[in-house]
Amino acid sequence: MRSSCGRFVLHPPPCDLQPGRRPGAGHREDLLPHSLPLLAFRCLSSSFVPGLSLLIMASSHTVLMRLVASAYSIAQKAGTIVRRVIAEGDLGIVQKTCATDLQTKADRLAQMSICSSLARKFPKLTIIGEEDLPFEEVDQELIEDGQWEEILQQPCPSQYSAIKEEDLVVWVDPLDGTKEYTEGLLDNVTVLIGIAYEGKAIAGVINQPYYNYQNNEKQKLREHRNEAKAGPDAVLGRTIWGVLGLGAFGFQLKEVPAGKHIITTTRSHNSKLVTDCVTAMNPDDVLRVGGAGNKIIQLIEGKASAYVFASPGCKKWDTCAPEVILHAVGGKLTDIHGNALQYNKEVKHMNSAGVLATLRNYDYYASRVPESVKNALVP
Ligand code: AMP
Ligand code: MG
Ligand code: MG
Repeated sequence: MRSSCGRFVLHPPPCDLQPGRRPGAGHREDLLPHSLPLLAFRCLSSSFVPGLSLLIMASSHTVLMRLVASAYSIAQKAGTIVRRVIAEGDLGIVQKTCATDLQTKADRLAQMSICSSLARKFPKLTIIGEEDLPFEEVDQELIEDGQWEEILQQPCPSQYSAIKEEDLVVWVDPLDGTKEYTEGLLDNVTVLIGIAYEGKAIAGVINQPYYNYQNNEKQKLREHRNEAKAGPDAVLGRTIWGVLGLGAFGFQLKEVPAGKHIITTTRSHNSKLVTDCVTAMNPDDVLRVGGAGNKIIQLIEGKASAYVFASPGCKKWDTCAPEVILHAVGGKLTDIHGNALQYNKEVKHMNSAGVLATLRNYDYYASRVPESVKNALVP
């Protein structure tokens, strides 16, 4: 199989008759028994005409929209894996390059799930995942075959309608904010699947497995005391997605009050350069939180006005999906010099010249990056 992620190998299914779920079945987070999709295909391929028309309709969707619809369901499943590992209690923490660069069992399992699920359905994709994993058979239980029906119903922006599978590069961060995950700061965590074409980030999915978890905990307490029944607050986790030219969905766009400069930056990878750059922007407030995905969510939900990270450390899988969501709503993400980031498969993974991202007023922040900081960060 040409596409790979880390170094895992996924053997193709025993036959090519893997039709996936019927449209709409992707809403379920649990997996169907393995035999069911095959059975469904046999029905469709004989005289089951209504089903056959569904199959024909499905094949008329563009590669990009099918990929985004699958990535949505796959990111959701990865989110359930992230939650399950915490619930089981054994995080299996491994240090990668240093004490603040960690990998857990959730990073490993979520990457296996995402990359194998994508590669099985889209064998010609180039998939680049954060974790360097040994060759391993992937358990069927980790495979997600669904696709989110609401995405399939959206039109594909015309400039992307002829894209072929082999032209796309997918950047996967199976768990962004691992350090925070190990410290129980669970709402900092996201699953990131970014899609690039001709070096540009064009589509992306962000799953936030613990969105609402504080509300959820309060809700459980209220229910326990018989004070209230479960309401919408009790829904744990959410998925945000976007395509350039179409928009971004799954959240309410909000802006920081006019004139306020609130900067969000790293809490676990700080340095003098990072602090110098933030200080030079004369912020009203500085939020130190984990995760690149989480910081972009702060920008689009009106909690912060700029994400400033004047340091190497952040990689292409950290920025690809978040960049799309931000750009789709009129924001801007660049390196600290103002250069656009490139996402073609040959590019170096490290964002060596840092990250500067805003929803509005990009120029205010870009104009305040000190020359000393720029000189220290070579693209
Ligand atoms: P942070 O804002 O510190 O949560 O970083 C955002 C993303 O970049 C996370 O995925 C981090 O793991 C990664 N990152 C940033 N700086 C470093 C670093 N010095 N070493 C390893 N990963 C880093
Ligand atoms: Mg990350
Ligand atoms: Mg990660």
